[in-house]
Amino acid sequence: MNTIVIKIGGAAGLDFAHAAADIAELIRAGNRVVVVHGGSDATNDLSRRLGIEPTFLTSPSGHTSRRTDAKTLEVFQMACRGLVNPRIVLALQRVGVQAVGISGLDAGLWTGPRKNAVRAIVENRPVIIRDDYTGTVERVNTRVLTTLLDAGFTPVIAPPALADDGTAINIDADRAAAQTAAALRADTLILLTNVPGLLRAFPDESSLIPEIARAELAAAEELAQGRMKKKIMGAREALEGGVARAIIADGRVERPITRALAGTGTVIR
Ligand code: ADP
Repeated sequence: MNTIVIKIGGAAGLDFAHAAADIAELIRAGNRVVVVHGGSDATNDLSRRLGIEPTFLTSPSGHTSRRTDAKTLEVFQMACRGLVNPRIVLALQRVGVQAVGISGLDAGLWTGPRKNAVRAIVENRPVIIRDDYTGTVERVNTRVLTTLLDAGFTPVIAPPALADDGTAINIDADRAAAQTAAALRADTLILLTNVPGLLRAFPDESSLIPEIARAELAAAEELAQGRMKKKIMGAREALEGGVARAIIADGRVERPITRALAGTGTVIR
């Protein structure tokens, strides 16, 4: 019996039905599955529908992240918990999986520090933003997950996370999935996305890197841009936490998880 943590990407082109069918099969075969998702694209859509243009900050080192003020945090929560989570739970229920939607807040499932100062470059000048609701998951309350798993339920975890100061925070779901996999001592972390894996020459999909050894991870992190960087960081954190392998794989295809487990994608071990 293996424990598998699967992060389902939110980007356009992902079909939850394909992943759900695979998850149903894995569970029938006796595996324990935990699903994690984000809500970046749904937050952008909902935000625009509410007349709020999403804004992003660029850090001095070139990372971009969503500017998450109090209003944006509300939209982020509505998108993650109100839109994306039920879509995945429904896709799983349709194939007979007893999925339970739960957020990182519930029972303090995901906790960690809130950033008290976000450094950004705005109009070529360094600025410090103090009212941002973002942070990192550092601890996972595995008891909530094992209680559900032991009872035959499949947890589907949505952001936000619970910050140490008692606020809800926007966190990176790839890295939260990695922390979850490490805390559960999972065998495999699968990060499903809208590309075939890490590409040597993005966006050329024929330049897929099939395997990365641990020693090559730093170089791989350099290759990746934008949000792919977070996936490589997540893979590294999962491996450091004792997970045997992390696989970044295409979520747009049929049988996405079966393919990933067979080694299609970028396998990091
Ligand atoms: P998801 O919502 O599925 O988690 P993200 O948008 O967070 O996906 O991350 C995947 C994206 O990372 C790809 O769609 C692509 O635009 C971008 N990317 C940047 N550099 C690379 C690279 N070297 N290889 C693959 N994808 C990359």
